Formats: sequence, structure tokens, C-alpha cells
Amino acid sequence: MPTFADIIIDLNPKSLDKTFQYLVPDELIELVSPGTQVMVPFGQRSVKGIVVSLSDSPKIEEEKIKSITEVPKRAKKIMGDLMILSAWMKEYYACTLNQALRTCLPVKEKTKRRKEIEPPKEAEAIEVKGEETILTDAQKKALDTFLSDYDAGIRKPFLLYGVTGSGKTEVYIKMIEHVISEGKQAIVLIPEISLTYQTLRRFYARLQDKVAVIHSKLSKGQRSDYFEKAEKGEVSVMIGPRSAVFTPFPDTGLIIIDEEQETSYKSEIVPKYHAREVAQKRAEITGAALVFGSATPSLEVYEGVRRGKNTLLSLPNRVNDRAMARTVVVDMRAELSRGNMSMLSKELSDALSDTLQKKEQAMLFLNRRGLMGFISCRSCGHVIKCPHCDVSLTLHKDKRLHCHYCGHSEDNVDKCPKCGSKYIGSFKPGTEKVEAFLRKKYENARILRMDHDTTREKDSYEKLLSAFAKGEADILIGTQMIVKGHDFPNVTLMGILAADLSLNALDFRSAERTFDLITQAAGRSGRGEKEGKVIIQTYRPDSYAVTTAAAQDYEAFEKEEAAFRRLMSYPPFAHMLLLQFIGNKREKLLPAAEAAYSLIKESDPGLFLMQPRDAGISKIDDEYRMAVTAKDGDRLRLEKAASLISAAILTEKVFSGITVFFDFDPVRGF
Ligand code: ADP
Ligand code: ZN
Ligand code: ZN
Repeated sequence: MPTFADIIIDLNPKSLDKTFQYLVPDELIELVSPGTQVMVPFGQRSVKGIVVSLSDSPKIEEEKIKSITEVPKRAKKIMGDLMILSAWMKEYYACTLNQALRTCLPVKEKTKRRKEIEPPKEAEAIEVKGEETILTDAQKKALDTFLSDYDAGIRKPFLLYGVTGSGKTEVYIKMIEHVISEGKQAIVLIPEISLTYQTLRRFYARLQDKVAVIHSKLSKGQRSDYFEKAEKGEVSVMIGPRSAVFTPFPDTGLIIIDEEQETSYKSEIVPKYHAREVAQKRAEITGAALVFGSATPSLEVYEGVRRGKNTLLSLPNRVNDRAMARTVVVDMRAELSRGNMSMLSKELSDALSDTLQKKEQAMLFLNRRGLMGFISCRSCGHVIKCPHCDVSLTLHKDKRLHCHYCGHSEDNVDKCPKCGSKYIGSFKPGTEKVEAFLRKKYENARILRMDHDTTREKDSYEKLLSAFAKGEADILIGTQMIVKGHDFPNVTLMGILAADLSLNALDFRSAERTFDLITQAAGRSGRGEKEGKVIIQTYRPDSYAVTTAAAQDYEAFEKEEAAFRRLMSYPPFAHMLLLQFIGNKREKLLPAAEAAYSLIKESDPGLFLMQPRDAGISKIDDEYRMAVTAKDGDRLRLEKAASLISAAILTEKVFSGITVFFDFDPVRGF
């Protein structure tokens, strides 16, 4: 009996998003199974394809079916579990199977020369404890719970919830050692490789040549080399950013996602997958254990604990019971009314002088997240918000204030509607300005600045960090890139400038982001022997993101935030689908968004659907952007809406020249 293969053609148009049947010639039968890459004739060309499934019945007249011509020698085979994952991804993120396969299977490319990733020399000054430590009681308890579930085959995801400095990494390493001692492999996702450089070195020190590390700066070919090593069993632990979740290990036993709340786990390109969701699916398929780690868990994962879907492992205290840093909240409105117009409060400038005098180190974090032209009052802190939604209004070029959620707009103001002050406007401070100010004020202080501009060059990030670690500077100023993961024992002061700025981001997750940033920043101070201090400067000292972060009280924050999300039917209490429309002709964009809106409305009248609106950033690189948002408790309903639109894109003229993206449960404003 002849064997037929259903094959997906490796060309991108959506019209090809179906399988084509080919005959498997007898001489290739041994080589072909689901996941095999093959060459097939397609029109006048010979193209690559991937076998999805095999059968013995032809779907069309047998004589019309063409044959597979070749199985390329270096053909990559998609692991069975990644094949299943691709099929799931296609539905879950409403992408084509081809896009899903390309995401799961890195394209094989020849590398010019193999470059191993080694820690740069400068970074060696950062002290790394390579030896095994004795675990604390809390660590032991967390590990034991994991081990007994793991050995009993219980596969509920874990949340390792531990304050900053509580020793999560040590627990991860012990979990990994157990899983690999059974001949299985482990995947460890960390937000951005360079950000957790010290963590990386600890993994290297303990697991040595069993570890491979990938990061976003590797070429596709290099990444594919590492994946090949993983496939062949030459390494058993893969550490990397979100794409490491696709490591083709033969028998994945454990997937760890450190700092699971990080937005970088969400892909910005199609399919816009979330590594947390993909990891969960992959763990389900392979039977691997799944561990989320965080000091400030996402509402999604914490809600999972509450519903009994995730098992909580908790590390409530710092290692050696070292105290958390003392926090002080400074109300910048009061500073202004006292006549202090500078960017440092009296409290912070006194503390800085004190730190410098004691020859200790300070960090200053300028929170710039979500900075998109919102309007706030410097006298009373009032932020102009939409009367219909809990989001701030944004100043547009038409000189009017707009809401990005409901389309409401109103006139801009020249004085504060609450207190009448004329000090109202959009607020855009920069790290450079802070640096210049400090250099003038503290002439003898040695200052480093770390932001997008100073870290462009290769290794500049590590160089800055190691210079600071070696004590070559007294003050490190930076954006969010300085707040995560670093362990500088001599830092006793953390100053947070404009702590509430990120509250004005254009999305419903802005309070969560703010809480996370302040908590992480606070966690950098007082990690060594000396007591730490944190000064939080804010115009909104009463907002719950600020008060709960200052109290370092995650549970209190989570309670407030969950109530807000539940009330508004935001994730994790409902799902959201953001349809993004992008095109270079404004006059064609609105009809496309309106057509999509009507199509969905017609097919599912009861679905909560918002009218087309301009995106938060309504034009980038001469491309206009619009959005339509839907919300529902049933994700399937949203998937249906998305696939309805993706089918319409192929046939309806109104969508020609327009790019449409589907973003489920978005983590960034649009
Ligand atoms: P987290 O990731 O939770 O912020 P880390 O894993 O970075 O915490 O641990 C903080 C510090 O405590 C590190 O320097 C680490 O080497 C150290 N450490 C971890 N576990 C122990 C232990 N059981 N005994 C002593 N020191 C430990
Ligand atoms: Zn005011
Ligand atoms: Zn609104």
C-alpha cells in the first residue's frame, strides 16, 4: 500500500496555510515521519516542506499526487513534542501553522565560526560563590515539596515565591541537579541574559559544561548550533530568554521561568506567544515539571495558586535573615510647596551626602516606563484621566487629550483642574539630566550612568556593572536596567526618582509594573552586611502600587490589584484580544478596522467589543496604527474571532495593504 504524507509548504503566504498531500516513495519511507523536512515539487519550483502526518489513503485522485523528491541530508527533524506544540500554537495564537513551525524550529543556517559564550573578563571581578551552600530551612522545605511531587509524578506548576535575596537560584540549581541525575534535561528561562549576569555565572560555576546559554544577540546559526547540542544530549541544561522554551531536548524533565512576571516573555513578533503559556503547554505534553519563580508574581500565576492550579513554594525571608532595606516615601508635591524645585528631595540629597561620606555606594533609578506624554500636575500630583476608564489621557498632536481605551477626547488644559496650579504638563525627565545635575552637586563623586545610550556597545553593560561592583564608582544612575537581579553588597542607598511614572503607562498592567519595579529596586539596597535604605520619590504617595511597594507587601498589592482587574474584566479574570491594524495609508486603515469590527459583531453579537480606536502611538515610521479590542471569559470565543478575521484578510479587499496582528492578553500598551 502506498504511503502519503500531509505536508506543510515552507512558504509564507497565508493562502498556503493548509497541508498538501504527497506520495512517499518506497526508497524514502524509512526516513520520513511527522516532523521530517523534505523537498517537494510545488508549481514550477522545488520547495522545502515539513511532514505533518502520514496516511495510506489519497485525498485526491492518486495519479495527480506528486512525490517527495528528497530528504535533505542535514534535514532537521522537529521533535514530536514540538510538533504537537506547533499545532496548539496555531490555534491558540491564531497564526498559520507555518508561522508556528518556524517559531518552534529554528532555521538551520551554516555558521561561519563557532563562538562559545564565555563570561567577559571584566565581569570576573564580580564575586561568585561556586561552592554549594547549606540550604536554609525555607529553601529545604521548598525543595522537598518539589522533590516529593516530582518523584510521585505530580505535575502541577509550582510558584517559587521568594523576596529579593531569599536564595531562589540555589533552589533552582538543586531542582535541576535532581532532574538531570535521572537522565532528563532542564530549560531555564531568564528575562534577558545580560540582566542576570551574576545568576548566569552561578549556574556555570555549579553545573559547568552541562550548561549551554543562548541569548538574543546570537545569530540564528549559532542558536541552532546550541539547539543541536541539546538535541544530541551534549548539554542537559539550557538557559536563555523566551525562545529557549523551544530547546529540542529529547526528554525535557523541568522548565523553570525565573521572574515570570517579566513582559519580555511575551513575543513581539508573530505569533505573539507568551513563554509562560508555551512552557505550560510543553510541560503538559512532555510530562516535565514547571516552576515559576518571582518576588512579585504576575496576577496570572498568583491567581493560579488561589484556585489551586499552582502549588506555592515560599521563601519569606532573605538568606541569613538579613533585613529588608528601610523605605521612606517622599511626597514631591510637598517638596515643591517648600520651594524645592530640584529633582532630588531634601531627604534623598541628605542621604546621598551621607552615603558618599561613609564611602558606601548608591544607586539612583529613574523610572521611565510608560512615558508617553501624559499630563500631570507638579503641585498636587493630579493626573488627567478619562471619565469612563481608569487610564490617563494622552496629549496628541491635535492638542487634545485622548483616551486610548474608549476613544473619549477633550481639550488640553493650561492649569490644573484640581488645584489650579499652572505647573501642569507632560513630564519627561532623562537620565542624562540627572547625571549632569549630580556631577554639579557632588563634585567629587564618581558617577556611572547606565541606560539605552551608554550600553549600545558590545560588553558595555558588563563593563559598567563590573566597574560598579569593583567600587570604581560611588553612584550608579540608570533606567529599569539597573534594578533587576544585581547583587552589590556595598550599596546601602537606592533612590527611586518619579516612582509613579510607570503608573501612567497606557495599559491595565501599569500598577503591576510599578509595584514590580519599586520592589525590585528596593531589593538592591542593603544586600551586604550594612543596613540598606530606599527613598521613594513620588507625586502620588497614596496610590496603592506605591504604598504597598514601600511596605514591601506583595499580598496587599495583589489584593487591591485583583479587585481592580476583576471589576474591569481584565486578565487574569477574563481574556483580551487586541487586534492591531497597521498600514501606511491612514484613509485605508479605518475602513479595515471597521470591517473587522462589523465582521466580529455580526458573528458573535454578545461578545464585548470596543469600537476601532487609534493606537497609543498612532504612527511609527510612517505607519499608522489602529486597534480593536475584545474581552471575554472564554478564550475560545476570542480565538474564533481572530480566525474569522484571518480568513477574511485573504478574501476581503478592504484588508489589502494592511497588516493585522493578533495579541492575546497583551502585556504592553499599543
Ligand atoms: P534571589 O534570587 O532570591 O534574589 P539569590 O539566589 O540571588 O536570591 O541569593 C541571594 C544571596 O544569598 C546569593 O549571594 C546567594 O549565593 C546566597 N545564598 C543563597 N542560599 C544560601 C544559603 N543557603 N546560605 C548562604 N547563602 C546563600
Ligand atoms: Zn494640581
Ligand atoms: Zn476612556
